[in-house]
Amino acid sequence: MLDLKSKIVDIPNWPIEGVVFKDITPLLQDAAYFKETIDRLAEPFVSAPVEVIVGIDARGFLLATAVAYKLGVGVALVRKPGKLPRPIVSRDYALEYGSNTLEMHKDAIKLGERVGIVDDVLATGGTLNATIQLIEELGGTVECVSVLIGLSFLNGKDQLGGKPVHELITY
Ligand code: AMP
Repeated sequence: MLDLKSKIVDIPNWPIEGVVFKDITPLLQDAAYFKETIDRLAEPFVSAPVEVIVGIDARGFLLATAVAYKLGVGVALVRKPGKLPRPIVSRDYALEYGSNTLEMHKDAIKLGERVGIVDDVLATGGTLNATIQLIEELGGTVECVSVLIGLSFLNGKDQLGGKPVHELITY
């Protein structure tokens, strides 16, 4: 098993003072590490099969799309405001500084559909919590949240309503 952590680069004080940004681009650029990342992100969906994978704008798309392809299911998008052309549902949520909004097409999830979420980083959990709410508003059931990195000191898992979380790297 490859040490995925060795390909994550810490960028102190970026994009703002006090944040240590986890740069995943060295991992994405390495074929063996990228493949193992996708294989391991897909693992929980073997025992908890899903009908669609949800990916979150923008780095999340890189991982979610590849996992969906591996599982042989489609990928539904959670996007930043103003990007989706048809009727949407949206959620506002608080960030450490200010707020953010996420949107999904109303027909992105079917009633009763089993859904998996794949993202890059679980930090405070605000983004994933808003994503779960959007999916549930559309009638989907979130089976598992699979993330490359979890920042445990921010307690993001507490925001996810007890949903199972699969984490490849924990800080
Ligand atoms: P949060 O809503 O706080 O859980 O943050 C969610 C999103 O913000 C993640 O999906 C990342 O894309 C990004 N993010 C937050 N903190 C970091 C960090 N330290 N390094 C890299 N990305 C981060």
